[in-house]
Amino acid sequence: MNNEIKKVVIVGGGSAGWITAAYLNGALNQRGADPQIDVTLVESPDVPRISVGEATVPSISHTLEVVGADETEFMKATDATFKQSIKYVNWLEKDGTGYHHPFSRATPGPIDFTGRRWMESQRDIPYMETVSAQAVISEIDRAPKMLQGQRFERNLKYAYHFDAQLFADYLRDLAVDGGVEHILANVTKVNQSEAGYIQSVSQDRGDDIEGDLFIDCTGFKSILMEKAMDVPFDDFSQWLFCDQAIVANFPYEDFFPGTVRPYTTCTAQSAGWIWDTPTMTRRAIGYVHSSKYVDPDEARNELLAYQGGISEDYETRLIRFKVGQRQKAWTKNCLAVGLSGGFIEPLESTGIYLCELAAVTLAELFPKTTDQLQTMAFRFNRIISNRYYEILDFINMHYCLSRRTDSEFWRDVQKDEHITDRLQAKLAFWREKAPTRADFEDQAFMGFEFHFDRSGDPEIDPRPPTDSAGLWDHQSYEAILWGMDFRGPEFATKPGDARQKARALPFVLKTIQSASQQLPPHHIWLHKELGMKPWETGPRPAGWIKPPYL
Ligand code: FAD
Repeated sequence: MNNEIKKVVIVGGGSAGWITAAYLNGALNQRGADPQIDVTLVESPDVPRISVGEATVPSISHTLEVVGADETEFMKATDATFKQSIKYVNWLEKDGTGYHHPFSRATPGPIDFTGRRWMESQRDIPYMETVSAQAVISEIDRAPKMLQGQRFERNLKYAYHFDAQLFADYLRDLAVDGGVEHILANVTKVNQSEAGYIQSVSQDRGDDIEGDLFIDCTGFKSILMEKAMDVPFDDFSQWLFCDQAIVANFPYEDFFPGTVRPYTTCTAQSAGWIWDTPTMTRRAIGYVHSSKYVDPDEARNELLAYQGGISEDYETRLIRFKVGQRQKAWTKNCLAVGLSGGFIEPLESTGIYLCELAAVTLAELFPKTTDQLQTMAFRFNRIISNRYYEILDFINMHYCLSRRTDSEFWRDVQKDEHITDRLQAKLAFWREKAPTRADFEDQAFMGFEFHFDRSGDPEIDPRPPTDSAGLWDHQSYEAILWGMDFRGPEFATKPGDARQKARALPFVLKTIQSASQQLPPHHIWLHKELGMKPWETGPRPAGWIKPPYL
């Protein structure tokens, strides 16, 4: 029977649930001004949100606009700070050096040969500093915006670090104000038709909740997609070893390092890496690691050593996760958004991005009637699958280009069997030429073959996923490749070589100069524009050891 799709039921109220609810309500209902569909979100009062997810990518601005957020209000409500880049420390060698992957960089001319030119130069300054001012702007601790709403001459792309718990609360308030129905209850049963379509969910505080389209946002529990719809999970652990994180918060009340870095720092450790994300009240830190290569006590010690000598008493929390992707993000009348649909370690802050991508894509493909479900699911699954594989390759590359040999973990991640076939093909191609835009149009990498048996299911596209550069194009690949000294040894200057010095683009030099004169330090901007407390660096406690992040 062909029925209209009018009622969407979202189960779960973490970032995934509230992004989806607020976005659909913004995009399809004009935030309540022109209601086309009913959106109900049911959230457990007992199961806590995962509440990590502190760092985002610039796509967040689009989401905030559609849900009707005001930037100042949003930043105040979520303790947000600016993020302009990710800095990777100790990834190539364990020597304290690092490189940036900033959000803005220049594209000189229609064809970008900056990578090739830099590679053939003396490489006496980091590649990124030849094409982007933002790595330097981040290092000199500047906000991407001027005070009192004045416009800086360049548009510096940015995202935010924020408190994920407060972010979900903020979106909840916007969504509920715009007419989304919010039910606090535990979903106890999923009721399906004979053909497997979900008709309603039962809850412990009232009547069954009926709907036309159901969205599973129950996090790792995945009570709709995994438990009821029985959709299998593609496991990525062959390529990404990390399976847990030990996390802690370090409030500025106890210790303020003197600045609020306008970037995320990811520092490689013996069996993974530590994220360091500053909000307006604290630094959130987490050691993403592989339980096979380091035990929990050692991991905790590494985390506390990173923080410095004052931190033994801090509470830490262990979060286990599985890396991979649900084989279908949408099946019949059920979609999985957020952790219920999959997860890739947050090295490039992709968790919230994937929730946004699902919400945006669903809004665009929203089926009018039940007989459109299969067509829209086919297209949706293709988009989400491609993006997962794109992210898998990109994160995999951060590991496989390392030259660290100081632990079994680092020796193992560099082995061929732990590098995806497609990434191997890309790297082989980029040994022939530096990455350019054209590399992402299709999968024409020599020698690339992908065998993936997903035949027989009409909702599944039999073509292998492609990297359409939807999230990262050649410029991002170059940030990592040249940051990790890809092909460096091959191009090392030999006696008699007459290589040119590396040169920053004039536009980059000019932007750095203006930024240092006009942009305020990040913490000053947060203090003056948002009322962040004027944290004092304060006296160091007895026995304090200078931590490596300072
Ligand atoms: P959760 O936050 O787990 O929410 C699940 C919801 O389902 C909760 O509201 C819960 O109450 C509800 N629920 C569960 N069972 C029931 C039930 N029976 N009935 C009703 N409701 C139920 N992403 C980033 O973008 N940047 C990062 O820096 C980042 N860091 C991360 C670090 C780690 C270690 C991990 C694990 C994830 C990280 N992520 C990050 C991912 C990000 O946190 C998640 O993608 C995002 O928060 C979405 O989570 P969620 O809403 O799917 O799940």
